Formats: sequence, structure tokens, C-alpha cells
Amino acid sequence: MIWILLGAPGSGKGTQAERLRDEFGLKTISTGDMLRQAMASGSELGRQVEGIVKSGALVPDELISSVLQARLESEGIGAGVILDGFPRTVPQADLLDKMIEANQWKLGGAILCDVPVDVVVRRLGGRRMCARCGQGYHVETLPPAVEGICDKCGGELIIRADDAPDAIRKRMAVYEEQTAPLIDLYRSRNLLHVVDSSDDVDSVHQRMRQLFIGLTG
Ligand code: AMP
Repeated sequence: MIWILLGAPGSGKGTQAERLRDEFGLKTISTGDMLRQAMASGSELGRQVEGIVKSGALVPDELISSVLQARLESEGIGAGVILDGFPRTVPQADLLDKMIEANQWKLGGAILCDVPVDVVVRRLGGRRMCARCGQGYHVETLPPAVEGICDKCGGELIIRADDAPDAIRKRMAVYEEQTAPLIDLYRSRNLLHVVDSSDDVDSVHQRMRQLFIGLTG
């Protein structure tokens, strides 16, 4: 079973995906994390996407779909996979349908992390990321035990290049134009579930887990 987490940048998809993974024994795949790892390793893919990711634009549909497909097909989907950050366009949603059909997987649903724009912008401003392991933090809502240091691996916490103000504006515009149409698409297929994600991480997680328990029986 494959689950999609939808939502604007800063809506908490990554954090909630990790919580669901830990609680329900699922796998989480973040296409943004995959691209950041590729950039950090200096691979061919990383070099190809670096400028695009830093500007806040989307990498081409075919490219990101083939990266995801290779990962899903090599690892398998185990007890289930939560996709964080894919699909992000209607063509990507079509490519995902094809992958699912070809592999006889099933789409469990698309869960929308619903947050007002002003909250999202505030969250992105305080966001930090471990330069070594990619773990996410927030200076107000999810601070590390020691300022500037990752709880998990001791790495240095940094601000993502695409969390700079210009890139944030670009990513919000891209979301509205290219990703928000997926909300109607999955709603029309009776696959959309909306979770109010405007307050703290634990409260949102409680709503997510109730929904998940309901959906998975
Ligand atoms: P995220 O960590 O999900 O916010 O993704 C960071 C950046 O990676 C995005 O702003 C895009 O440049 C790129 N990216 C991640 N996922 C996708 C995707 N499904 N399609 C296109 N670009 C993506």
C-alpha cells in the first residue's frame, strides 16, 4: 500500500511522515531528501538538480519519477510506504498511477496536511536541518536539546538554501500553481483525507494516527 502526504512547503509533511513511519512500521520516502543527499554526495543527479532545488523550482517530472521508481522497485514497499513530496504535479500523479499498476501495488489515499499560508511562512522561517543526517528541527516548535546541534547524530544544524526568503516565495507559488491541483484530483477519486495541521506536532500527529487507524482498520 502506498500513501501520499500532500501539503504546502512547511505544512509538516516530513515530520508527520516520520511519526507515522515510527508508529506503524511503514517506510517513508522523501523525494526532497533524496535530492539533497544526491547534492551532498556530488553525484551526477545532484549536480543536475542543484540549481533548480536551490531556486525553489521543481525538477522535471520524468527525472524525479524515474528516481523514485528506481528506489521503490529496488527496495520494494514492505508493509507500506508514505511518500513525502511526491507527486507534486498532475503528470507525476499519472506516472505514479502507472508505477502502482505495473507493480500491482495499491494507493491507500492522499492525506493533506492543511495549514493556512501565514502559519506555513512562519514555520519555514524557523526551520533548521542537520547538515549530516537531514533530520528536521524548528527553533520554536521542535528545538534540538542543544542549540545548533542534531539530537540524533551531533551534526551541525543549518538553514536549507531553499528556505531563504526568495526561494520560499517561489516554492509557495509553485505549490499553488502545480501541486494544489492534486487536491481536487484525489478528492474526485475519493482518495483525499484532510488533516488540520495548523497547531503543534503532537496534536497533528494524534489526528493523523486516528485517521490512519480508521483507514487501515
Ligand atoms: P521538499 O524537501 O519536499 O520541500 O523538496 C525540496 C525541493 O526538492 C523542491 O523544492 C524541489 O526543488 C525538489 N523536489 C522534491 N520533490 C520533488 C518532486 N516530486 N518534483 C519536483 N521537484 C521535487
